[in-house]
Amino acid sequence: MTSPVREPDARGFFGTFGGRYMPEVLMPALEELGKAFEEVRGNAAFQGELRTVMEEYSGRPTPLTACRRYAGAGEDFVLELKREDLNHTGAHKINNTLGQVMLAVRMGKTRIIAETGAGQHGVATATAAALFGLPCVVYMGVEDIRRQALNVERMKLLGAEVFPVDQGAGTLKDAVNEAMRDWVRNVGGTFYVLGSAVGPHPYPVMVRTFQSVIGIEAREQFTQRHGTLPDLLVACVGGGSNAAGLFHPFLDTSVQMVGIEAGGTGDDPGRHGSSLGLGSPGIFHGSLSYVLQNDDGQIVTAHSVSAGLDYPGVGPEHSQWKESGSVAYYRVSDGEALEATRGFTRDEGILPALEAAHALAWIFREREGLAGKKVLMCLSGRGDKDMETLLEGRV
Ligand SMILES: *Cc1c(COP(=O)(O)O)cnc(C)c1O
Repeated sequence: MTSPVREPDARGFFGTFGGRYMPEVLMPALEELGKAFEEVRGNAAFQGELRTVMEEYSGRPTPLTACRRYAGAGEDFVLELKREDLNHTGAHKINNTLGQVMLAVRMGKTRIIAETGAGQHGVATATAAALFGLPCVVYMGVEDIRRQALNVERMKLLGAEVFPVDQGAGTLKDAVNEAMRDWVRNVGGTFYVLGSAVGPHPYPVMVRTFQSVIGIEAREQFTQRHGTLPDLLVACVGGGSNAAGLFHPFLDTSVQMVGIEAGGTGDDPGRHGSSLGLGSPGIFHGSLSYVLQNDDGQIVTAHSVSAGLDYPGVGPEHSQWKESGSVAYYRVSDGEALEATRGFTRDEGILPALEAAHALAWIFREREGLAGKKVLMCLSGRGDKDMETLLEGRV
């Protein structure tokens, strides 16, 4: 195992992954964003404002909850959950959208755009835009709009315009392209809010930094309660933002880390969302990272029962962690995640998001090997949004 690269180089590479594979016209905007981000990173006033908004609006710090029954936790091993489900809007995504929209305000931008697949990032972005009084356009594929009617309505209630994209298959990939086109046209006054630790530099490092509040808080809370660091961190990986936010503040320790991808319904292309486990390096969404692609380098559709893990790429920092051996990545099937959702809810009285249920399912699978260990897991979101899927699974 080589030691991980902690920060990207000036061109945005974590080792060999990352970079800026973007149209020339957007380079100045990415430069401007990179500079603005570096400036606020060490700016006490901005960080103080962000902390206040997190506390007073989103409910941070989120607590750690010790499991009492699930998978033998509480008896055979310690399992502490970092409760990102208790954030305003029900998941960790708000940590990032509040940070980016506050940065947009500071940069003097007057308009917010985003793209969304399942709608969770769209809702989190529309929420932050409403809080700061900025107009917001969310690009969304027509097929996704049809499947995610509730989130579409929620975004509209929040004052966002949901722009239907009917190109291609009408899903996330097409919405990304349309959002990029908007940014090219309106680059001066518009801020593009990305939803995970993906995309061209500086987005991966910026999103991870805003999400690092998860790991910074959890490290302090865990050591206060147990007098020691955990043995193992576990988080689900879609684009990789909640996992990177938990892991990064522990990179200076010997704590083991495990990321769980969507195993879907099998290992064949189109059946899963395991970019790290089953994909290969390629360029997608503006950076070089592991992606799901065919022999021609065309992006292959991802599948997962959980909408948030249904993404055909992964953040470049994770690709570097995979190659350096800093983090181990495994996959969990749709069926295992659904089963874990039911078991965990009954055992602990918490309905987890299907994304987070993937991490729970892996813990269940490995429960014998975890005897005597102390585990810290990111419960990235709550499962109310998944009730329809859970009802379908029943019949
Ligand atoms: C979006 C989402 C994820 C996946 O995104 P990451 O960037 O990998 O964290 C995981 N859990 C929940 C609840 C989500 O909404």
